[in-house]
Amino acid sequence: MRYFKKLRKELEKYLEPDLIELVYQAYELAVRAHYGQTRHTGEPYVTHPVAVATILAKMHLDHQTIIAALLHDVLEDTLIEKQELIDSFGVEVADLVDGVSKLTLMEFETKAHAQAENFRKMIMAMAQDIRVIIVKLADRLHNMRTLGAVSQEKRRRVVTETLDIYAPIANRLGMNAFRVAYEELGFEALYPRRCRVLRKAVKQFTGNRSGILKEIEDQLNARLIECGLLSAAFESRQKYLYSIYSKMRDKHLSFSEVMDIYGFRIIVDSVDMCYRVLGALHTFYKPLHQRFKDYIAIPKSNGYQSLHTTLFTPYGVPLEIQIRTESMNELAERGIAAHWAYKTGDPSPNAAHLRAREWIKNILELQQNAGSSLEFIESVKTDLFPHEVYVFTPRGKILELPEGATAVDFAYAIHSDIGNKCVAAKIDKKMMPLSTCLQSGQTVEIIRAPSALPNPTWLNFVVTGKAKSSIRHYFKTQQITLSDKVDTHLSVNMVLDVAKRSGLLADVTIVLSQLRVNITRVDATETHEHAEVKLTVQVDGRQHLAQVIKALRKINGVLKIRR
Ligand code: MN
Repeated sequence: MRYFKKLRKELEKYLEPDLIELVYQAYELAVRAHYGQTRHTGEPYVTHPVAVATILAKMHLDHQTIIAALLHDVLEDTLIEKQELIDSFGVEVADLVDGVSKLTLMEFETKAHAQAENFRKMIMAMAQDIRVIIVKLADRLHNMRTLGAVSQEKRRRVVTETLDIYAPIANRLGMNAFRVAYEELGFEALYPRRCRVLRKAVKQFTGNRSGILKEIEDQLNARLIECGLLSAAFESRQKYLYSIYSKMRDKHLSFSEVMDIYGFRIIVDSVDMCYRVLGALHTFYKPLHQRFKDYIAIPKSNGYQSLHTTLFTPYGVPLEIQIRTESMNELAERGIAAHWAYKTGDPSPNAAHLRAREWIKNILELQQNAGSSLEFIESVKTDLFPHEVYVFTPRGKILELPEGATAVDFAYAIHSDIGNKCVAAKIDKKMMPLSTCLQSGQTVEIIRAPSALPNPTWLNFVVTGKAKSSIRHYFKTQQITLSDKVDTHLSVNMVLDVAKRSGLLADVTIVLSQLRVNITRVDATETHEHAEVKLTVQVDGRQHLAQVIKALRKINGVLKIRR
């Protein structure tokens, strides 16, 4: 099939034929699933997932990631069910696709700029498998490349979101090539005119200076040969338009001030060579005070390693030099994705996974030893080993809560008055018991009743200090002894036959809360002729239960109560 050709070529470079065949099956499923759909560019929709898969194949990612990329939009946009993916490609692939779909859904939530950091954290926390994020980043890259075909307004929204959310994630994972591409494409899409002017100026400037650059390179080369360091390769560093633009804007520099620094990268074949090359250069041109950075001994928080130094040259312009090994260079471009790369002959299917985990562990240790760990531990550890959940309020505000937090914790996190008056919760628009544990990405709406009171049994499941102390404080001020209340409850199952009426479920929960009943389960089912509500509640003895049943019977629409 014609769209598969280019992708196959990339896959043949590193995958065994049987795995390519499996990828092809995924391609066929994608073609079938997206049949008849087109992109805003007018092309068949399937060209998009194929392009995303191709981006990842160029990075040699394992076949599961490539399959997930091909299928990344089928759960969202087609009739394919997750079970079908499990049957055809296994649970891991299905989970990857599911993870990417969940991230895609969140794009429609409102996001204030100040929330971007939390949002990034949430994305990381939601992705148990880091490959979900890698696929999402590639998806976003292809969307950014095809921005030309969408409306001005949508373009602005996508670019802002990319620069606020996805570029920092790429940066954190060390996927520099992605970050740079986002910035360049975003700059061009938002400011086409500025971009054009700048591009022309850069071209002219580098044209004028190419003679000097060549001369400097020759001198450096001669110096290394003189010191017996032959294996070094030079790269003149390209300056990116967005980075020039943001330096001019943020540091108030003129174009020539930004441009008048030459950048060279020297790639060598061992760590030892990095330091020897550095020594040779420092005894040749004088290094600029305080501009030397040893990121090999102390890597940046995303694992980036390199030596950085700035030298004075006889030409009156400073020279920025980066010295690193080939593998450091690859890591600087691709970050964590470089560790996910599939290698023929890997001992187990999880080998790449283990390498990526190992990498995270290694940089953790390196950073700890280097004593500059705080920022890194803060970011990556909580990102990749999540102990927090991030949930939305109905207005799109994000709250950070500890793992295991319930709807009651959420209510108290907003305000103690909301906690004290809460009677029920709608989680992703579904009525759920207040004791439900929340998960990242959910939208939680708290339903309140003016006459509601806190329930002492909540203390059995809340996890946040705020909720605990607020509930205790309430009972202290009301002079109710808690020990009389907690854990004396009786758990009761009941089924209500009810008429189909909107708001009925809310009425039930309000009535129960007014009677201080803790609801541990609520389940509503509806057939076309009748509806029923299954409840598990905790009451304080028989008398209390009788009161509860009496009150429930009075609710308009409750037909029958079964035990
Ligand atoms: Mn997509």
